Amino acid sequence: MSNRILISEVGPRDGLQMIRSVMPLEAKCAWISAEAAAGVREIEVGSFVRPDLLPQLADTAEVVRHACTIPGLTVAVLVPNLKGAQKAVEAGAHKITLPLSASETHSLKNLRRTHAQVLDEVRAIAAMLRELPPEQRPHFEGGISTAFGCTLEGEVPERKVVELAEQLMKAGCDEVGLADTSGYANPAQVKRLVRAVRSAVGENALTGLHLHNTRGLGLANVLAGLEVGITTFDSSLGGLGGCPFAPGAAGNVVTEDLVFMLEAMGLETGIDLERLIEVRKIVREALPEEPLYGFVPEAGLPLGFRPASRST
Ligand code: ZN
Repeated sequence: MSNRILISEVGPRDGLQMIRSVMPLEAKCAWISAEAAAGVREIEVGSFVRPDLLPQLADTAEVVRHACTIPGLTVAVLVPNLKGAQKAVEAGAHKITLPLSASETHSLKNLRRTHAQVLDEVRAIAAMLRELPPEQRPHFEGGISTAFGCTLEGEVPERKVVELAEQLMKAGCDEVGLADTSGYANPAQVKRLVRAVRSAVGENALTGLHLHNTRGLGLANVLAGLEVGITTFDSSLGGLGGCPFAPGAAGNVVTEDLVFMLEAMGLETGIDLERLIEVRKIVREALPEEPLYGFVPEAGLPLGFRPASRST
């Protein structure tokens, strides 16, 4: 188990994408700055999708430009296609993730593309990136969504996920990630699938997981990932956005709870938990209607809590 863990905050993209209200640009920038100041080193700040499809994220280019002024912060974005990737490069993003749904039914419904079409897009993006000088080239991840099961297809065969991971790497991704979009994963499955994908594409080509807490197993699944060597976890401040399948429940793993677990276990995230919890105020003020989740912010830190990141 590595004792240094990277938390990739996805609230400004994944969280905001799930809600109807639009957060003003100034609030997004304040949120991102405050999280970075609390020690968060990677933030997925938006998505280069058509603004008419996701008006919540229409200002992604401006958000990226702001985030890129924060020293030491890795600025990540989601891109659905080559055009989005070009916009991400223009704005200066450091990392781009192209989602590919392991379930083809889900892929057709969400991205309106078959697996073959998505892989063509990956090849086109990789070719575009190769033309760039190395210092302008963002890290390119293929994010396999519905990797642990799909609300439309049910079970997703593990060999299908392994196969897609291999195809993504062959098509030119630097790395693949696995996402439990539907919140179906369990810890045994996380270990099995991570091991299977890693043995096919290599350890360095799978370092991150995007887990959900839909059925209460978010942190248990994180622990399973840690035990098989995963070092990057996506999560969202306050679990913003909730879960589309279970109203009243957090969708994404809550960043505050995740940081608490890791730091209490002696694993360094570099994040100051008290400052992180303060960041909720910015989100709450900008989106007063939206519920924020998290056990640790409600219960407070245990008396005498000693985070791993402060003791070194
Ligand atoms: Zn998510």
